[in-house]
Amino acid sequence: MLDITALSQLLNQPRKIVITTHHKPDGDAMGSSLGLYNYLIQLGHHAQVIAPTDYPEFLAWMPGNSEVMIYTEQTAAAAALIAEAEIIFCLDFNHLSRINEMGELVGQSSAVKVMIDHHLEPQDFDDYRYWNINACATAQLVYSFIATELKRPDLINADVATCLYTGIMTDSASFRLPNTTSAVHRIVADLIDAGAVNWRIHELVYNNSSETRLRFLGHCLSQKLEVLPEYNTAIITVTEQELKEYDVITGDTEGIVNYALSISGIRLAGFFVSRPGRVKLSLRSKGEFPANDICKKYFNGGGHRNAAGGHSDATLEQVVEQFKNILPEYKTLLIQ
Ligand code: 5GP
Ligand code: MN
Repeated sequence: MLDITALSQLLNQPRKIVITTHHKPDGDAMGSSLGLYNYLIQLGHHAQVIAPTDYPEFLAWMPGNSEVMIYTEQTAAAAALIAEAEIIFCLDFNHLSRINEMGELVGQSSAVKVMIDHHLEPQDFDDYRYWNINACATAQLVYSFIATELKRPDLINADVATCLYTGIMTDSASFRLPNTTSAVHRIVADLIDAGAVNWRIHELVYNNSSETRLRFLGHCLSQKLEVLPEYNTAIITVTEQELKEYDVITGDTEGIVNYALSISGIRLAGFFVSRPGRVKLSLRSKGEFPANDICKKYFNGGGHRNAAGGHSDATLEQVVEQFKNILPEYKTLLIQ
């Protein structure tokens, strides 16, 4: 493991740097990556953000977005950059399986690997780790990495601030989750002072739905919501056929699970979607309920206590049945 002095020294001259994040990047994945990118380019580094897969339109506007490479679309060029990189920043994930096929390339690379992350149970593949599970977002950690560890708060310009604000806003569910501490609000205040235009960022992320997404959301809520009052649980299931019918594209399913969680008294909400070849599930919970426990134990996944995900090779019906069969195990936690 390197220490911060060694890493700072390494960053003292222009380096070939790759920044990557988890597949199907969310607001924190892209916000933290582009926040760090906009910092590094001010120092003359050759930095490249490589996303393992594509990401939603409502995230495709942040400063530096036009320079992002998507591995599945530019595989050879991205692989070459990973092979040549001197430093690889791994943001908002801590297990190489989270970057799909890129995991093998990053694992094999001789570059110095820097992990900045807030998920549980990191895999040991890094050379420098800036990791804190109490952080509400990786973007919060990128802020303190730049301002406190590298001692360059002066380089948090409007571009950096805009990206980091987006990461913190999206991962804290708009500053609502319990980990949105007063320290986070102070960071957010600094980001606004540095040029993040808060109302505009909210507009770009949240008031940017297509008509089809809204109609799909309506369908999910009126036809597909199932409430299980004996377990204070609500779920929404979506078939492949429905995804086609409503022209659902990347990002359209994002956040729908939160509507199920917004029902009074509901402590656990699930969104199950049948994608080609696998079922993907998203769980959200309130308070102490460990959504990540269910994902880790039964659905090849993980995440945070209140926001977790996983997948299964079984059919949608089987996965939903399995989920319902698991609930009695958690009944005391769900009905307290
Ligand atoms: P989402 O439901 O939005 O896909 O994911 C919610 C949270 O769970 C995110 O923090 C994400 O990193 C984590 N997560 C989602 N899917 C997986 C998975 O397959 N494995 C692990 N370890 N974490 C996941
Ligand atoms: Mn995150």
